[in-house]
Amino acid sequence: MRAFVLHGPGRAAVEDVPPPVAVPGEVVVRVERVGVCGTDVEFFTGEMAYLHQGHSSYPMRLGHEWAGLVAEVGDGVDRAWIGRRVMGDTMIGDGTCRRCRRGHQHVCEHRQEVGIRGGRAGALAERIAVPVTSLHAIPDSVDPVLGALVEPGGNGWRAARAADVGPGDRALVLGPGTIGLLTALFLRAAGAEVHLLGRDEESLAFARGLGFADAWTEPELPDLPFDAVVDASNAAYLPARALALVEPAGRVVYIGLAGSPSLVDTRTLALKDVTAVGVLSASPGLDATIAAYASGAVDPRPLVAATVGLEEVADVLAGRRPAGAGPGPKVHVDPFRRAGPGRTEHD
Ligand SMILES: [Zn+2]
Repeated sequence: MRAFVLHGPGRAAVEDVPPPVAVPGEVVVRVERVGVCGTDVEFFTGEMAYLHQGHSSYPMRLGHEWAGLVAEVGDGVDRAWIGRRVMGDTMIGDGTCRRCRRGHQHVCEHRQEVGIRGGRAGALAERIAVPVTSLHAIPDSVDPVLGALVEPGGNGWRAARAADVGPGDRALVLGPGTIGLLTALFLRAAGAEVHLLGRDEESLAFARGLGFADAWTEPELPDLPFDAVVDASNAAYLPARALALVEPAGRVVYIGLAGSPSLVDTRTLALKDVTAVGVLSASPGLDATIAAYASGAVDPRPLVAATVGLEEVADVLAGRRPAGAGPGPKVHVDPFRRAGPGRTEHD
């Protein structure tokens, strides 16, 4: 089968690789859609911390935001999975440690992360193998595009949930990238008044196009009480700014990661009686996200700027926009699409 293989910083190729087999407890999924995300870019540039901590090494097979159809099941797996549309949890705990036993497998010290950590091949390929325990079934009303947006959406759902706002409340999201916009969509679905803060006019204009009229640059930000502030940026100074901007007794949510330490003065946290929450992964939010997409409460499909084939992934990771791409922040990949617009080969 064809797969995107990353051999080192800036060195990648689409190659013929042995297709995965369904070992006991696992399934093989025929991949329909894969999202490219900032983590993938960090592996392409070589900046990703896991490379330097020994959690990941080249060659790598990327791709952790995916949806597809179950094609094969291994021993011990219910054959009813075959043909089902699914997405998979990126985080695969060892299932035995204290954290896993307490339901926190997404922070298991020995976890694999699909397409990211521990040598578990990702979904930028025609097929992927994953443990059946990591699968989440997707209902018919959720198409493959939405299916591949469940993983990033789960992060947005958790950030919005942690903000704990509803009708009559006002929330501010720092950073209108994919996670910031998904968080804003879930906050709006919860009934809150949502503001966004960003740097470049293009992404703010895109946010306004999604109906977020209150999308501001820093000098424009109105002096309003914000009951919750979510930092979904990668700017090291914004976590402290989030705490400065939030109303006393409010909530700050930290989901963005900067390249250098971002410091927060806990005296401010205590003196303002603010609750701070950190979010690492989508895992505990996947089912709620699927439900929100299925009901139509949240539809993030406009975030997808373009859908490309595997041959174009290296260009996307290098920061080049696909020809004809829309203004959204997310690029999707159809592993069965060959070069040229709109052509998909089905087997
Ligand atoms: Zn564990």
